[in-house]
Amino acid sequence: MNSQLALQGVAVSYGDYTAAQEVTLSLEQGQIGCLLGPSGCGKTTLLRAIAGFEQVSAGTIKLRGQAISRPGAQLPPEQRKVGMVFQDFALFPHLNVQRNVGFGLHAMDRKSRAQRVQEMLSLVNLEAYAKSYPHELSGGQQQRVALARALAPNPEILLLDEPFSNLDSELREQLATEVRQLLKRNGVTAILVTHDQNEAFAVADQITLMRDGRVVQIDTPYNLYHNPASEFVAEFIGQGSIITVSVDDTGELDNGLGILDMGHRHWQAGESLRLLVRPDDVEYDDFSSLSLPIVSKSFRGAHYLYELGLPDGQSVPCMTPSHVDRSVGQTLSVKFNLQHVVVFPALKEAQS
Ligand code: ATP
Repeated sequence: MNSQLALQGVAVSYGDYTAAQEVTLSLEQGQIGCLLGPSGCGKTTLLRAIAGFEQVSAGTIKLRGQAISRPGAQLPPEQRKVGMVFQDFALFPHLNVQRNVGFGLHAMDRKSRAQRVQEMLSLVNLEAYAKSYPHELSGGQQQRVALARALAPNPEILLLDEPFSNLDSELREQLATEVRQLLKRNGVTAILVTHDQNEAFAVADQITLMRDGRVVQIDTPYNLYHNPASEFVAEFIGQGSIITVSVDDTGELDNGLGILDMGHRHWQAGESLRLLVRPDDVEYDDFSSLSLPIVSKSFRGAHYLYELGLPDGQSVPCMTPSHVDRSVGQTLSVKFNLQHVVVFPALKEAQS
């Protein structure tokens, strides 16, 4: 079966500078993908290549099995069935909502166009605003108009470039969830570009994490968090500390925090390991005999994120309900749940 979108060994260069390389990824019909990574890692470049605004210098981009980009042969953007939503909404200020949404539908007769616009406005819950102008709408409403406009011509894929970043944080979260539901309900295949992992988690089925123009890991949000392929991924995604420990032949840690599950893991007694400890692995428990000093604390509303010091000077995170309000320098009693910690070989990582 052909994927809806497939990138095979794609590279994009600006002159001598290669902004993306060896990018291979695919999305099935109805799947929502996300390009995530630090600023400058090549996310927007790739999205623009899929849209046809940048040429590829190597590899192939296929939409529903048809090559739309390869070196020296590019289907022009307007001939790709691609919808785009940008960060700055890019609505036409002199056209009302209805005409903005109908803008890409010139090939349709007047009646079908009106009907399609109506459908799209109802999809994004803006029927009441058909005659309003963009400046009369809130940021969230404008972004919903942009979404309706991009979806109106029934694109084979929808490209979303940081679509929520101009909105305030509460609205951003709400709209991200809404957009996911809307795309899923309508079976739309989409790719979102963001540097905000919470947004990626809220919207995507599949996340492609990038670094310096290359793909580092492609996975579900769950796996990216729980099974990071490298220390870079572990540090970029979610909260957590990576600590260096050594184990004896029963898996017991030298720092007294407990015993590692030896199940599927292979290491030598005395070997140095790097452990990813997430807040989920350190449980606040007043009855535990293990008390650790609080090094720092950060209020998050519903909870506190504490950083707890280990005797060897390293530290680990712990999340508590926010009524557990201790001061830096006091201690917190905790239990370690080591069955889910991720183990990285110390030497290999230190070299990479
Ligand atoms: P951000 O999250 O900051 O938007 P990004 O991951 O989307 O970053 P890109 O915009 O794809 O990154 O840029 C990748 C690299 O390519 C950057 O180093 C950038 O400076 C460079 N670049 C982007 N556009 C051009 C261009 N038109 N000409 C030359 N270099 C460019």
